[in-house]
Amino acid sequence: MKEISCKLLVIGAGPGGYVCAIRAGQLGVDTVIVEGARPGGTCLNVGCIPSKALIHAADEYLKVREMAAGGDPLGISLDTPAIDLRKTVAWKDRIVGRLNTGVAGLLKKAGVKSVQGHAGFRDGRTVAVETETGEQVIRAENIVIATGSVPVELPFLPFGGKVISSTEALSLKAVPAALAVVGGGYIGLELGIAFAKLGAKVTVVEALPRILPLYDAELTRPVVKRLEALGISVLTGARAKGLSPKGDALVVEAAGGRTQEIAADHVLVTVGRRPATQGWGLEEIDLDLSGPFIRIDERCRTSMRGIYAIGDVTGEPMLAHRAMAQGEMVAEIVAGHRRSWDKRAIPAVCFTDPEVVSVGLSPDEARQAGAEVKIGQFPFSANGRAMTLQGEAGFVRVVARADNHLVLGIQAVGSGVSELSAAFALAIEMGARLEDVAGTIHAHPTQSEGFQEAALKALGHALHA
Ligand code: FAD
Ligand code: NAD
Repeated sequence: MKEISCKLLVIGAGPGGYVCAIRAGQLGVDTVIVEGARPGGTCLNVGCIPSKALIHAADEYLKVREMAAGGDPLGISLDTPAIDLRKTVAWKDRIVGRLNTGVAGLLKKAGVKSVQGHAGFRDGRTVAVETETGEQVIRAENIVIATGSVPVELPFLPFGGKVISSTEALSLKAVPAALAVVGGGYIGLELGIAFAKLGAKVTVVEALPRILPLYDAELTRPVVKRLEALGISVLTGARAKGLSPKGDALVVEAAGGRTQEIAADHVLVTVGRRPATQGWGLEEIDLDLSGPFIRIDERCRTSMRGIYAIGDVTGEPMLAHRAMAQGEMVAEIVAGHRRSWDKRAIPAVCFTDPEVVSVGLSPDEARQAGAEVKIGQFPFSANGRAMTLQGEAGFVRVVARADNHLVLGIQAVGSGVSELSAAFALAIEMGARLEDVAGTIHAHPTQSEGFQEAALKALGHALHA
């Protein structure tokens, strides 16, 4: 048995853990990071990055299919296209591999010691790691739990065989002829749309009355329209019940109680993720929980002194950039800096078609918080750049306080709007008022002009609408 000691031990090298370790290393903190699988965590290996790679491949394939079907407005034509999903997946895996190596390299450059293996708490200062070469005991003054999350399994649709999670969906060897998706949230829609574009007949089963319930109905309407255009069937207010006796269909209780069977080669279950709080000795340290998550304060401190928790294991929103921001903050706290969570907003982006972005408060949330609001909404159908990109669906919406015009929230739906999320988040973080956004010169022709126009509209004098 080997033993080492350090000032900071990070468990889990996802976006939360690896960012924490890199920043701590940069600050000269003697840091060790333990990872049971591959550097980069869910996000880099089976989440954000591979899903966006598949979404991009699906977009490209749909473009050429539409060209081959004739009637392309740009005048491009070609012969029958085909896709070899094995090659697509191999391309995606090469991107993931490059990023794995990149994260490992960044950790090394920052002077962080990486240990490969599954970590388990012995007590509040000691962790034992099962490595390939035997047990490694690590004693640390501070420990950061960054163990992430895992997909929620439905008891009547356990993962295995036909029933898959996003992890398997991102590495299929062929495009399924028919795909049933249980859960019309982030993953179900991002991947459901991608597989429809790749040629699968996709049906989405959502328990609530509408898809993407996290966002307001106006914001998701262009997505609903696009799902229709792509031939995706959406059953809302419907509940999956299990596989049919033959195993070739998903049994669904549709709205109104009627039972229906949906033929499916694969059933992709995307009904949320749960914090990874099992299998590493939580019981040994007896931390307080908040629901299923580890309870943390504004410095990501848990109920035990010297133990921090960051990322998906600590709660919603389970997003990579929240995990990274927490990781960076905790590293600085351990290095002795005075830091606490002071972010005004965490942008949320759904990479559907069209994409959806929300930063800060929606109109209803702002009203519920007691604010009298001014709202400006600018459609991409009036934006020249959106037209040249065939992206006229959607809009930018700005929500501001009526009295002093402080921007409270910014939302957008449209092709490529994920890239506008930076400007939106910056505006809110900097405490921008409508006049600040309206008075900033936005380059022409860009979709970002829609942001300026939405602010102008809220002020009552949009120029192009
Ligand atoms: P994770 O990334 O889950 O990393 C935790 C790591 O800890 C894992 O590598 C795990 O192996 C390791 N670990 C766990 N227990 C132990 C142990 N006992 N010992 C050693 N190692 C351990 N978020 C976005 O912001 N944008 C997106 O576009 C996006 N797309 C997504 C698409 C999909 C399909 C999925 C599934 C998720 C997506 N997410 C996205 C969510 C994002 O992946 C998570 O929010 C993010 O990965 C959380 O980071 P984390 O560091 O908390 O945990
Ligand atoms: P989700 O919470 O986004 O969506 C789950 C959906 O399943 C909800 O709409 C819910 O009403 C529905 N549902 C729950 N039980 C059901 C049932 N029995 N039958 C039918 N529908 C049911 O969860 P997800 O899509 O699994 O994603 C998990 C998390 O991963 C997200 O919450 C998000 O934090 C993260 N993620 C983020 C991105 C991104 O940032 N672009 C992309 C993918 C995943």
